[in-house]
Amino acid sequence: MKIGGGVLRDKASFAQTVKIIKEKQERKEQPVIVLSALYGVTDFLIDSIPKCIASQESVVQAISELKKMHEQYLNDVETKEIRERAFFALEEKLSILERFLYGIHYLKEVSPRSKDLVQSFGERLSPIVLEAFLQDAGLKARFLDVEEAGIYCKGQFENALVDLEKTSKSIHSKVSPLLKDTVVLLPGYYGLDENNDVKTFGRGGTDYSAGFIANILDARLEIWKDVSGFMSSDPKLVKTAKQIETLSYDEAEELGYLGSKILHPKTIDPLRKKGLSAEIKNIFAPEVKGTIIEGSKQKSREIVKSIASKKDVSIITIASSSKVNVPDFPALVFSALGKNGIPVGLIATSESAISFSVEPKDLEKATQALAALRNDLECSIITRNGLSLVGVVGEGMRETPGISGRIFSSLGRNGINIELISQGASEINVSFVVRKEDLEKATLAVHDEFMG
Ligand code: ASP
Ligand code: MG
Repeated sequence: MKIGGGVLRDKASFAQTVKIIKEKQERKEQPVIVLSALYGVTDFLIDSIPKCIASQESVVQAISELKKMHEQYLNDVETKEIRERAFFALEEKLSILERFLYGIHYLKEVSPRSKDLVQSFGERLSPIVLEAFLQDAGLKARFLDVEEAGIYCKGQFENALVDLEKTSKSIHSKVSPLLKDTVVLLPGYYGLDENNDVKTFGRGGTDYSAGFIANILDARLEIWKDVSGFMSSDPKLVKTAKQIETLSYDEAEELGYLGSKILHPKTIDPLRKKGLSAEIKNIFAPEVKGTIIEGSKQKSREIVKSIASKKDVSIITIASSSKVNVPDFPALVFSALGKNGIPVGLIATSESAISFSVEPKDLEKATQALAALRNDLECSIITRNGLSLVGVVGEGMRETPGISGRIFSSLGRNGINIELISQGASEINVSFVVRKEDLEKATLAVHDEFMG
């Protein structure tokens, strides 16, 4: 069970979470809980960093604010020993964090290493609260921190990957034996690499943690949120959007990469490796069937499952008449971006130009990274803002001819001009870019075409 930060936000949701876990334990389902930070805590930690660099008082303030955020719940724990033990654990972790924040203050800088260390604290603190509530409800519950449980990772800061082999060994030896009678709580979002550096899996990465823990334990994964699943489109744009019953691994992954906040796309891979299923569950409506993600390729009725959108994208176009003479033109462009850590969204090329989308926040850095090419390749770099991306996703598109035709005629009928198209790479996704003011109309048009 992954419990998301979105539901760790008030007393009622904690009570509801405890109730659901308790029922599972009574049914002998052996739940393992993988937890996010409390609502807003990761953002708070990240925002604190520059403030703590600037002033020492900010360190004191940050610690006392974090203490308050967690204590407001712990005050409700009725059993005195449990409450006191939790307060003590909280103090202990906060005093470690305080030292790190002072370190950052005195050094006047923050490295990727220290940033990841600081932002891992949300997940070090939240399980203290839930563990106390579960114990208070009479359950045997135990929080094992990353060091204790042995959650190991590799790769980059802020985008690490699990070391599945090493983590699997330690989870089997340290967690599995407890499951007979104990609800085990594990922190999501981060692990330890081979040098004992703390590395996070990327924002929203607790889903991924829960995915690889499910893989290791051969478990069914439940993602507990404040909604029941994926929608056929953003209900803010399409009033008739409805919940999706099932998604394949590929569909869920695509929707994740298109920016749907329901499930982190990295979660799918560990599930796929073992053919495990996942269900999105609503903590406030546990009886409602959520979207199920499954490996079995059942033929579904719908060709298109969902129309996702990203409200803000920027497009960079590099046009070069001499490109024909430079065989490694695309390689030069994308390695310049890669070296600067700038992720690229959709890509479209022609003989004389390459266009691709980037996040608006990366636009300036991207144009700087590409500036050197301008002289070397005699190319022009054109940037555009005020654009939105729409992604149409569905396994059914693989086999059905004429889908792009239907998508683009529906846009044409509605007088929507398309700025950029990308199709085919995954066969289950057609993406296009429109002007921001056309986003709603475009989404509605395609939704009506396939699901109206
Ligand atoms: N707490 C982390 C975040 O806010 C990880 C997560 O919630 O999944 O990104
Ligand atoms: Mg979170």
